[in-house]
This record gives sequence, structure tokens and C-alpha cells, in this order.
Amino acid sequence: MASDFSVRFLGTRGSIPATGPDFNDVGGATSCVVVEAGSRDLIFDAGSGLTRWSDTVMQRYQADGGPLASHLFFTHCHLDHLIGLPYYSPLFLPDSSVRLYGPRSTQFDSFGDAVRQFIHPPFFPVPMFEMAADIEFHDFSEPDCALFQFGVEEPVLTRPTATGASEGVPDDQVEVSVESLRGYNHPKSGVNHYRIRFDDKTVVYATDTEAYPRGDRRLIEFAEGADVLIHDAMYTDDQYVSRPSAQGFGHSAVSDAATVAAEADVDRLFLFHHDPRNDDQELAELERQGQQTFAATTLARDGLTHKV
Ligand SMILES: [Zn+2]
Ligand SMILES: [Zn+2]
Repeated sequence: MASDFSVRFLGTRGSIPATGPDFNDVGGATSCVVVEAGSRDLIFDAGSGLTRWSDTVMQRYQADGGPLASHLFFTHCHLDHLIGLPYYSPLFLPDSSVRLYGPRSTQFDSFGDAVRQFIHPPFFPVPMFEMAADIEFHDFSEPDCALFQFGVEEPVLTRPTATGASEGVPDDQVEVSVESLRGYNHPKSGVNHYRIRFDDKTVVYATDTEAYPRGDRRLIEFAEGADVLIHDAMYTDDQYVSRPSAQGFGHSAVSDAATVAAEADVDRLFLFHHDPRNDDQELAELERQGQQTFAATTLARDGLTHKV
């Protein structure tokens, strides 16, 4: 349906995948979210959850034929957000285009340079230049904005003007927009947060961020009134202060995520980027803690689809 707007959680875990019977309810794949907006399927992060989406895309391709077009937005290049990418089958199809958008870091000249350094022997057998798809990288970060127009595959990459208008593209021709906000509280190069707008509705994806005392005011403003906020909630409140590798490692305690949701007055909060050590039982408790601060809180689970 062209009017559909939904969020599909393919991977909701952080750091490394988790496996075993104690993790079956929530799932163990690392970060990957697909936002289906009208005629678009936009992918956010390429953790191991991307392999599930790859299977879905390939089934459609085998049923309907090509060409294929994929758009992937990255928060940052940490491995848990990247390990699914070389297993994304459309990269190997000649009638496929793959566009990758992400932040440039200080260590590399471009976002593409960083990714290409990872997908290369001896770390992975096939370097990206040997992949058959038409692949393009784009440095993308605040205040960049991608405007996807009706009936046009490639987005216009632009920046808001002083009046807030989108330069060169009339608003009524924009089907979906993706905006970025820099998050500075994640070692060592920060992250991109994303706001996706479709048909007067908004989804905000803000993972790998450690909450500030008294709230991340820029993120709260960015997420103001959103229909869905997906926020990092890696720890219970006790874990955040008791685990040696928690404070300062760039992730949030659950009540801090819920406070951002409450102050931004969003409709629904999804807790995301689960610690691989937290099993289903611990995550059920984490969800309860979130609901005490913000009632409309749901634990994101692998395979869950939420209609916005
Ligand atoms: Zn992560
Ligand atoms: Zn990270």
C-alpha cells in the first residue's frame, strides 16, 4: 500500500549478536531497522539483522525480477552496525543499485573509505570493487537531508534553508524525507540520529547514545512530537551504575531513554540496542522499568513490525 508507514525491526541487539534459548523471545541479531514508507523501503544500519531483510528482498526479486534499488543509512561504522553489509545479496547483482549514506569520521577521508577498508581481504573475501551492483557512497550528516520524490529513485541530497524550506524540491513532490542530527555522546566519532517523515508522520531513530544529565536537549527537540522514537536503552538503571563497562561507553540506561520520550512528547518509545548479556527475562524487567517512566514504551524485538 502506497500509504503505509511502518517500522520493521530486523536486529535489535547491540555490540555482538546473542544466541541461545534464553534469547529467543527478543532475538539476538545486531542493529538493523527497515522503515517502509509508501513505495520506499529505507534501511537503517546494517548489523547482522540485515541478512533477514536480504532474504526478503531476494524473494521479491526472484518473484518480480529486477532492477533492485536499495538505500542504506548508517548511524556510524561500529562493527555491530556494519557486519551484515557484506552479506547483503543485492550487492552482488548487476541489475541492482545500492546507495549508502553515513557520517565521515576523522580517521578516513570519506564514509565510503571507512566501509571499503572493512569489506576487504583478509577480513572478507570480496572487496567492494568486485561486487557487481552499482554502488555509491554519500557522506551524510547533520544538517544533510535526503528528499525522496514520488516516482524518482534517487533522492535529492540537500540542506535546509534559513526558512526551513527544502531547496529545489516543492514540498508536495516529496514522498519521504530523511534528516540527520549529530549525536556527540558515543565514542569516539559520534553518531547520526535520523528523522524520517512520511505523510505527516515521523519516526526518529536514535541509537548508540548515552543520555546527558537533565536530558539531551537537541535530541528532545529533534524528536518533538514524533509518532515513534527508537532509542538506545542498553542497560537497566542498576546495570548502568554497576557494570564496569557501562558509564562512558556511549549507551543509555532505560529510564534515561524513557525521559527523552516523555520530554519530547512522542507517541511511542521503542527500547533498542539490547546488551548481549541481557536475556529475555532481564529485558522483560528492563521494559517494565521503562514503562514506569513512560507508559507507551515497548521493547524492540527482532521480527517485530510496528505500523506508524
Ligand atoms: Zn552499536
Ligand atoms: Zn557504536
